[in-house]
Amino acid sequence: MNGPADTAAPAEPGAPPADLEWDRAVELIRGAREICLACHVAPDGDALGSMLALGQALRACGKRCVASFGEPFGVPAILRFLPGQELLVEPSRVPRAPELMISLDAAGRARLGSLAGAADRAGALIVIDHHASNTGFGGVRLVDPAAAATAVLVEELIRRLGVPLDRDIAQGLYAGLASDTGSFKYPCTTPEVHDLAGRLLTAGVRPETVSRELWDRAPFGYLQVLASALARARLERDAAGGRGLVWTAIARADRRGLPYEQLEGIIDQLRRTDEAEVAVVCKETDDGHWYFSVRSKGRIDLSRVCAALDGGGHREMAGFVWAGPVDEALDRLRALLPAEH
Ligand code: MN
Repeated sequence: MNGPADTAAPAEPGAPPADLEWDRAVELIRGAREICLACHVAPDGDALGSMLALGQALRACGKRCVASFGEPFGVPAILRFLPGQELLVEPSRVPRAPELMISLDAAGRARLGSLAGAADRAGALIVIDHHASNTGFGGVRLVDPAAAATAVLVEELIRRLGVPLDRDIAQGLYAGLASDTGSFKYPCTTPEVHDLAGRLLTAGVRPETVSRELWDRAPFGYLQVLASALARARLERDAAGGRGLVWTAIARADRRGLPYEQLEGIIDQLRRTDEAEVAVVCKETDDGHWYFSVRSKGRIDLSRVCAALDGGGHREMAGFVWAGPVDEALDRLRALLPAEH
């Protein structure tokens, strides 16, 4: 939502109310000389796009500004087209106790990874987020679970700071908006989302460029990994009270050298399965943990299911990390899916 909080309808029934301290946030930013931005680990289009857009706007206000995210520190290949990469510094170069820190798109301090300590020690911490599972951390909060993306909140903040949208700022915001609405397909795609997209196009964003970078290109090796992951997929029609579960697992060896981050889009193929309400892709990270990407078609609230496994996310799109065997995590997940409907 980009309008006042009191006109913003909740994105989903039972979503927590918005917590929007715009005036305090603007005052803190105006008073700061140096600002550190951090987004969640393994950043997606919304996390990195929102962060780089805000960083460029803060520099336009004359602020010294750096941006980072916790290890592993490396910009995913599909996000390297985003303007403002010169703001990025290794997490080890973020001041130990920043004067002002702004956390973006992180539902909890743990999602900041190795930068969580700097957030704890910061003179002030502003949290900008839209996850229903947000833990309530941060001294000054711009948190609205009804917002389609963190980019929506960042655009309002930039407007309140009086910085005009140039093409580079708009490109980051558009990448965030397009990512978190599934390219304007998810139910969070409100009229306000399209209004904002329109303003970003007016500022010079080329939608075909952003779409091609985010979704329509991949190395040939990706197609081979995708093919084998789909060939191994299992459909469990009786799971989730007969609504169905489809899942696949991709171990490190199955990646054949493809970087972990390149597996991002596989869930979007798997979740097309008509016979399954829930889709899961289990992906082994380079350090041997398993990351579970979980999607539903709206009849099961995955933010609750994944929170019970120490993860989180949104109703239809959530995840969690697992240190043990995949089968054990799948058993836990099956047991958490509602048996009746
Ligand atoms: Mn987001």
